[in-house]
Amino acid sequence: MSKNAKYCESCGGKNKADAKFCDDCGKPFDKPEKTTGDKPSRVSEGVGLEVVSLISSILGFTCLPGIGFIIAIITGLMSPTPKENKYAKAGITIGSLGLIIPVIIGSLVGIIFGIAETVDGTDDLIWALIVGIIFLIIAGVGLFFFIKWMRKPAA
Ligand SMILES: [Zn+2]
Repeated sequence: MSKNAKYCESCGGKNKADAKFCDDCGKPFDKPEKTTGDKPSRVSEGVGLEVVSLISSILGFTCLPGIGFIIAIITGLMSPTPKENKYAKAGITIGSLGLIIPVIIGSLVGIIFGIAETVDGTDDLIWALIVGIIFLIIAGVGLFFFIKWMRKPAA
């Protein structure tokens, strides 16, 4: 019989295992405060990293060029649900594009100047062409992984 019994956390009253409410004090066993108690701890646990991610990504445009974007991507990916959380997702997106887009632009400028100078006959900026191509490949790989992550369904 005791297997089919449960005790009220509030008053200690013995109730049937399938009871929805305590017979003694009326407290619901299907306690809503248990679920709401779990949620804030889970959210607050994640909010730390996710907010750090978003703030870092914004700082990446100002006082921490590059570093802010990298921190944003790392903290965003470390957060518990990076795909579901809008802050983490925004942080990762801004961080990734903040790193990739300037590198692509820089690479293209290098390549254009390199080609222009090479066509000119003066090979002075051939290094700009080579470095431009290398960084364009790096940015392309970064963009590939970013798009792959974006398209991956949330776990
Ligand atoms: Zn009770």
